[in-house]
Amino acid sequence: MTEPTVYELSSPGRVGFKFPEPDVEEVALPIGFEREDLPLPEMSELEVVRHFTRLSQKNYAIDLGFYPLGSCTMKYNPKINEVAARLPGFAYTHPLQPEESVQGNLYLMYTLQEWLKEIGGFAGVTLMPAAGAQGEFTGALMIRKYHLDHGQPQRKRILIPDSAHGTNPATSAMIGLEVVPLPSDERGNIDLEALKLLVDDRLAGLMLTNPNTLGLFDENVQEVIRVVHEAGGLVYGDGANMNALLGVLRPGDIGIDVLHYNLHKTFSTPHGGGGPGSGPVAVNEKLLPYLPDCVVTIVEPGDDENPPLFGFYHPEKSIGRLKSFYGHFGVMVRAYAYIAMHSGAGLRDIAEKAVLNANYLMHKLKETYTLPYDRTCMHEFVLEGFWKDIPDVHAFDIAKRLMDFDFHPPTNYFPLIVKEALMIEPTETETLETLDRFVDVMIQIAEEARTNPQLLHDAPHNTPVRRADELKAAKELVVCCYPLEELQK
Ligand SMILES: *Cc1c(COP(=O)(O)O)cnc(C)c1O
Repeated sequence: MTEPTVYELSSPGRVGFKFPEPDVEEVALPIGFEREDLPLPEMSELEVVRHFTRLSQKNYAIDLGFYPLGSCTMKYNPKINEVAARLPGFAYTHPLQPEESVQGNLYLMYTLQEWLKEIGGFAGVTLMPAAGAQGEFTGALMIRKYHLDHGQPQRKRILIPDSAHGTNPATSAMIGLEVVPLPSDERGNIDLEALKLLVDDRLAGLMLTNPNTLGLFDENVQEVIRVVHEAGGLVYGDGANMNALLGVLRPGDIGIDVLHYNLHKTFSTPHGGGGPGSGPVAVNEKLLPYLPDCVVTIVEPGDDENPPLFGFYHPEKSIGRLKSFYGHFGVMVRAYAYIAMHSGAGLRDIAEKAVLNANYLMHKLKETYTLPYDRTCMHEFVLEGFWKDIPDVHAFDIAKRLMDFDFHPPTNYFPLIVKEALMIEPTETETLETLDRFVDVMIQIAEEARTNPQLLHDAPHNTPVRRADELKAAKELVVCCYPLEELQK
């Protein structure tokens, strides 16, 4: 059943909100700002509440069930984060307020920077990037500026493994770097011989996701980094998979020069509904002068009587601003609450349980599904979503059938180097009972693929929207519920 839109529910004259009497003088809007006809839906408050509550109940969410969407780290978002982010002193401040009046907010940002430096083993952090992809963009700009600054303008090549997330080549290309794909070897590591052939004085750097998107820790990572550094390149770390490393390995310690975090993945803030995210970027000493403008710092040290005074500094060779103001502050508050709640030992426990859960699922499922890279995984693993002897059942059918059992599908068809990939990331927040139920359902679906493949082709059977035409949804996306013919008038 399709839901009526707010326009279909609208009835002329119905009102859902009343403005208070103005306590300032009314002024006329500048010419051109006022419209004769503003086609807004007219509904009562109750109708609005019912409409959106009904829609929300048709959604799937981590708060409703298991969400093993590989690479996205859909862990539980503790509700204490929401309480913290809604504290009036955080929620009702404005970025243009004088710095003296937002010292608590600056303290929180400063402390978060310090923690992210410590967690990753780095010398400096910017909290400004809006998400991981903008963090990559930031890091690539800093790498480029570093080479220009060192009289190496010809260093424009960036090596990107064939298992990488699509944002890696996209952000590099956006700043004019030449993207060179790097093959993987049969164990899922970077192909060292291929790497050695690709490094020369045109090398700007390498973008490395470790553990990679196969969920595998690169067994030669030290050698990979050594080869890149020896050729004069820098190493960018895509930190989307930090959930596997927290408290176990600091990327800065093994020679990564710059790395983004995805606060909305590793540090638990709600995501998947379009944001906002946050993609802080951490750098070592080499890149410190190039950080975006500006960075939170202590401008006046405190003493026994007075707390320190927080403010901003402007890195001397900064790449400039990336967005308005200082980043997505509400996400920072949530990540701060999450890290504070766990502390150091708690963070390590997260990584250990995330890795344990993934290995548990991998071992339970590898008899039924093909596991192309059969070695200990990190926080996620990738199966093939097809069987050679059942040619018309695809990963897509398995994913859709899982929805009938109240599970969110795993990531599909990524990474590209695995045929019909099903990328499964359980995270540390699931119980053994949930993991076991998922295994049972996956095995049942494999059985159905043999005995009743039509059941899979027609799935999902009991969701509010049945199988969608995904090509049409992508090519003819309609995000406006206002009647099209009205808009075209
Ligand atoms: C999620 C992800 C990104 C992009 O991060 P966003 O925060 O979604 O912009 C990059 N690389 C990998 C491996 C990811 O999983």
